[in-house]
Amino acid sequence: MAKLVLHQLKKIYAKKDEKVYAVKNLNLDCSDGEFVALLGPSGCGKSTTLRMIAGLEEITEGDILIGGRKVNDLHPKDRNIGLAFENYAMYPPLSVYDNISFNLRAGGVQKKEIKQRINKIAELLDIQDLLDFKPGMLSGGQKQRVNIARALIREPEVLLLDEPLSHLDGKVRQKMRTEIKHLHTEINSTTIIVTHDQLEAMALADRIAIIKEGELQQFGTPYEVFNHPQNEFVAGFIGEPPMNIMEVLTIRNKGRLFFKTKNNVISFPVPDNYVQYVRENETYHFGIRPTDISVVEGEDFSVETNVSIFENLGEECRVHIRLEEQTMFSIVSSELLNLKQGDPVKLKFEQHRIHIFHPSSGERIENVLQEV
Ligand code: ADP
Ligand code: MG
Repeated sequence: MAKLVLHQLKKIYAKKDEKVYAVKNLNLDCSDGEFVALLGPSGCGKSTTLRMIAGLEEITEGDILIGGRKVNDLHPKDRNIGLAFENYAMYPPLSVYDNISFNLRAGGVQKKEIKQRINKIAELLDIQDLLDFKPGMLSGGQKQRVNIARALIREPEVLLLDEPLSHLDGKVRQKMRTEIKHLHTEINSTTIIVTHDQLEAMALADRIAIIKEGELQQFGTPYEVFNHPQNEFVAGFIGEPPMNIMEVLTIRNKGRLFFKTKNNVISFPVPDNYVQYVRENETYHFGIRPTDISVVEGEDFSVETNVSIFENLGEECRVHIRLEEQTMFSIVSSELLNLKQGDPVKLKFEQHRIHIFHPSSGERIENVLQEV
């Protein structure tokens, strides 16, 4: 186990006349034994970051420290890391057993010890029956398991996994996800997983680093990134289906501030905890998750309108509405409702579950310094 620190890490690829800023001043402080996910859309610099940690990619600027030791110039094999990359090739003529043991043999570990270690890893990953196979005989999912075994066998201080579940689908993927989490509690290496799947990151990681275009957007626990997204990008990326976001204006009525849509379809009193951050007659982006909107009867509602689409998905129902040029929807338990298009409906937004963002920067409003 070891602490892993990325300090002002930068990667610029030179492409003909063009420079690609793949990683921009990334700072990340991962504790001993922590499970961290690098999450973001394709091309945001996740693999590049992982490859720099592994020593497979030269660092343009910045430092990488493992267990307090700067490893910038260390050879990959001297960094005490285990790697499982998406397309990490195995040696085709060698059996799975020999592929897994390759580095141990090269490192002079005794045959007997190798056997013990492989048996343990094989059991953890449920690949005992594959040890005599050649790589060509394995399915995509089996290859990924073997890759993880190969990474773990060296009992690394830092384990790096790049989209390790990408070739699996549906139930197998979910099962393997649970197994990886279990594996982590067994071996306790500081682990970095790269994924573009927010659910995978949420399920696995102690903390998630959300990256957009090479830049860190937020580094926090699943609870923090879900409940307190620091900007609109994180708000939209975490949570499936994503947060509803619409443009609103602030107006004052009888001494009280309200958020309103342009044609007054919504009139929602600015909650007390936001009063100090918003100003009168300004535009904001108003976010609320579908599960934080309920269907109500009576007079205590946030918007009264008609259903534009109603979907019954068994466990839940989705009520879509149109608000001027914008749409939003609510998710409610399916036992409660049976609506159809055009039915009148009253929706209530959960007071303490709204998120307000700056309309141009997308920053969470509490973080924006107000001009005096
Ligand atoms: P991710 O893993 O998040 O999908 P990558 O780290 O692979 O993203 O890539 C980040 C950016 O760097 C992308 O714009 C990609 O095109 C670019 N890139 C990656 N590898 C190279 C390379 N060897 N040469 C030039 N550009 C690269
Ligand atoms: Mg990648």
